[in-house]
Amino acid sequence: MRDRRPDRLHITDLGTVLGVWAHPDDEAFLSAAVMAQARDAGQRVVVATATGGEAGGNGEERSRELMRSLAAVGVTEHEFLGFHDGHCDGVPMDGGVAAVRRLLEQIRPDTILTFGPDGMTGHGDHVAVSRWVTGAWRASGHRSRLLHATLTGSFHRRWGALSSANGIWMPGAVPPSVPDKAVALHVSVTGASADRKFAALQAHASQTDGLLRAVGDEMFRDWWAAETFVEVDAIGAAA
Ligand SMILES: [Zn+2]
Repeated sequence: MRDRRPDRLHITDLGTVLGVWAHPDDEAFLSAAVMAQARDAGQRVVVATATGGEAGGNGEERSRELMRSLAAVGVTEHEFLGFHDGHCDGVPMDGGVAAVRRLLEQIRPDTILTFGPDGMTGHGDHVAVSRWVTGAWRASGHRSRLLHATLTGSFHRRWGALSSANGIWMPGAVPPSVPDKAVALHVSVTGASADRKFAALQAHASQTDGLLRAVGDEMFRDWWAAETFVEVDAIGAAA
């Protein structure tokens, strides 16, 4: 069910959605339900993935998993940006920004989804992609709404220990945590959305089989049952 608080965005407010992520599976963990609900509402959703995820398994297999995962949430438009997994933070800023600007010019999204400056898990590729997207968004005159994936205190209270025990955060990383009032878009992943998000995550079998075995299906679903974003203002700070 969607959050109906008047101070928050609704799915239909998002218009055309462009998600820019680092690896196949980032989009599913952080935005599968947003994508499914936007597609159901007839909105265009495009996903761009900076790398093929080849550091985390066979690149061709991960590409096939990604296509199956996107199909589970009704997304038919996808583009790889062609950078190397694990090396995004070594890409000159201009090159990363140019790749994202090209996407913005082609797609002209109303809303962009990506990582915050924390990179969610602290992965260097995630942090780099966040920087590129922010740079491209600024260079395009802030034409779109920019939303950063984040987590709330309630996520950390319930799932912090489990997340740490399962190696979600990079060593030394400080995952994001914002108060509820700072959240611009919150999707509670329940009912049909939950089934589709679960299918999208299961499709990334090379990445999620181990976690699923470790915690079981029910807990795995609950763990990722909220998608939360903050909106970045034109000065470049998350509200
Ligand atoms: Zn990733």
